[in-house]
Amino acid sequence: MDLFSLESNKAEVFDKIQNLRKELTEHNYKYYVLDNPTISDYDFDMKLKELQSLERQYPEFYDAQSPSVRVGGEVVKNFQTIQHEHRMYSLDNVYSKEELEDWEKRVIKLVGQDNLTFVCELKYDGASVDLTYENGVLKQALTRGDGIQGDDITANVRTIKSVPLLLQGEYPEKFHIRGEIILTKEGFTKMNAERIAEGEDPYMNPRNTASGSLKLQDSSEVAKRPLDCLLYTIVGNNLPLKTQFESLQKAREWGFKVPNQSRLCKTTDEVMDFINYWDTHRHELPYETDGVVVKINEVHYQEELGFTAKSPRWAMAYKFKAEQVVTQLHSISYQVGRTGAITPVANLEPVLLAGTIVKRASLHNADQIAKLDIRLEDSVFVEKGGEIIPKIVGVDIQKRPLYSKPIQYITNCPECNTELVRKEGEAQHFCPNYECPPQVTGRIQHFISRKAMDIEGLGAETIELLFKEKLIKNYADLYELKPENLQYLERMGEKSANNIIQGIEKSLQIPFERVLFALGIRYVGETVAKKLAREYHSIEKLEKTTYQELLLIDEIGERIAQSVVDFFQDETNRVLIARLKSYGIQMTIKEEDLANDSDKLKGLIFVVSGVFEKYSRDELKELIEKNGAKVGSSISSKTNYVIAGANMGPSKLEKATKLGIPIISESDFEQMI
Ligand code: AMP
Ligand code: ZN
Repeated sequence: MDLFSLESNKAEVFDKIQNLRKELTEHNYKYYVLDNPTISDYDFDMKLKELQSLERQYPEFYDAQSPSVRVGGEVVKNFQTIQHEHRMYSLDNVYSKEELEDWEKRVIKLVGQDNLTFVCELKYDGASVDLTYENGVLKQALTRGDGIQGDDITANVRTIKSVPLLLQGEYPEKFHIRGEIILTKEGFTKMNAERIAEGEDPYMNPRNTASGSLKLQDSSEVAKRPLDCLLYTIVGNNLPLKTQFESLQKAREWGFKVPNQSRLCKTTDEVMDFINYWDTHRHELPYETDGVVVKINEVHYQEELGFTAKSPRWAMAYKFKAEQVVTQLHSISYQVGRTGAITPVANLEPVLLAGTIVKRASLHNADQIAKLDIRLEDSVFVEKGGEIIPKIVGVDIQKRPLYSKPIQYITNCPECNTELVRKEGEAQHFCPNYECPPQVTGRIQHFISRKAMDIEGLGAETIELLFKEKLIKNYADLYELKPENLQYLERMGEKSANNIIQGIEKSLQIPFERVLFALGIRYVGETVAKKLAREYHSIEKLEKTTYQELLLIDEIGERIAQSVVDFFQDETNRVLIARLKSYGIQMTIKEEDLANDSDKLKGLIFVVSGVFEKYSRDELKELIEKNGAKVGSSISSKTNYVIAGANMGPSKLEKATKLGIPIISESDFEQMI
């Protein structure tokens, strides 16, 4: 092909890419903002795949606003803290009509006018964000933080499909828009169903899960979560917006998702109508709300009223009361978790609460039962707060049946009858029997779960079935399974049996750090497992470690150190590990993970203190570890160097000086490596 046709061919490709981007952006908007898709999911995926493939072939046409960025990929190790251009305030709360009227009177008095109007909005229960747009392009997303500075979560927010990357229509050159990142009830339930299927504990409530999601390091993980973003305030300098209601309308026109329940009200009665309506109908909403925010509509009144140290004077949150019902407690069941922890669960007379039928409530532990003095057949108050699982908050003593007795907490495991133990300082009782069936299956379910060995085709139920059929009694047994063992199980054909065997084989590729997590050592989560893998490189070295040595590792405390040592001292675990090794599971860290490492600082222990210019603390720590040294958590006679930044703690300084430990700067450290 000659140069000319090459160029014109490129121009054609560019056109094609641009068209696909435009089309997909449009469909994203219809689907995620308007809830009104005009294309099938399949067709959408096909177009997206086509775009991604073209973008891969022609990286010169990269565009940060392309809808393909929604799948994520950027990994952020440390979220940078950034000052808010406009402070993010909190809201004052009221709980009754009287308090709300008092606020209204105060406002009228302050502005000296009574012709103001109100906007009522639902109060979305999520994690607040501040988005910056410049020339219609999303530039930055910050968490609220302490209101003065927040964390830069732009990479993660860009994956949220209802957040526009490019605006439509006529918008100000620069502005901030604020809202809440939430998980819909449906999305949350779906996520939990997946977790349970993988043998993981379900998340407790949508709000914490949403805010936790924003702090995931890998944006492609964030992209998988059904997060949504609901907007409510526009902030900036010299914006052409006269009222709050108009702002909401404009935001909608620019492509933001602004829930349409908001209402413009002229009187407090109208405001109360809105509140009362949503107090009873809130369960019909697709997301959680914990109240109504009432705002003065006119921007010039807002400006006149200003802010207190904490919140705007021109807005007020009316908080709904947590819904409560009374019902009977029939019995208590006790569940045994993977670690042997016992959780008591109340079985209730089914009752309608917050839009769902409630039959069970969590009771947490023995102390909780004693504290509430709950007895069988008591009438109990059940409440649903932000949590999905309702809780018992009290007893109606008046209705207590005669001759009722305090509940005797179980002394033996309901599954294996072993006597329970309760360690000092722990709230939970434990079944100490390693062979206890739910513990055995729980450990295997953890082993196969997505973040651990990620064995496709195997689920929690199959594990239980395999255990019941005596085909497995630990995770190493999985690797001895043959297709013929599986085929004759209930509801399993040749195809699924082969799938499982293949999935098990594939898990031999799972890297060491995840194997370490999969072993299910108590308190060793994903992060700690990674740390241990980097520190020790192989299971042999880790097996030989000591409690003292573990404590020297940054962020490894006594609890984790003891648990690791205990795990490897146990003969059963050693045998299991030896077997896993013999099947070919990764028990050493991969070369490429250690590629940039050196052992220039081998044997040294550094303590990092203060704020640095060039590196974040975590980056420094990583550099130290990558060069063979260890990061200590506090200064002791074993410390070799203290790397000090600005604002090093005075007590650390004193201690280092007293012990004669050299204090070096970050550039000194750079020289060393
Ligand atoms: P709180 O966290 O209880 O002090 O409530 C204040 C927070 O509610 C604000 O900072 C916002 O993040 C959030 N919020 C939720 N919905 C709204 C809304 N419609 N208008 C203003 N703030 C809201
Ligand atoms: Zn037991």
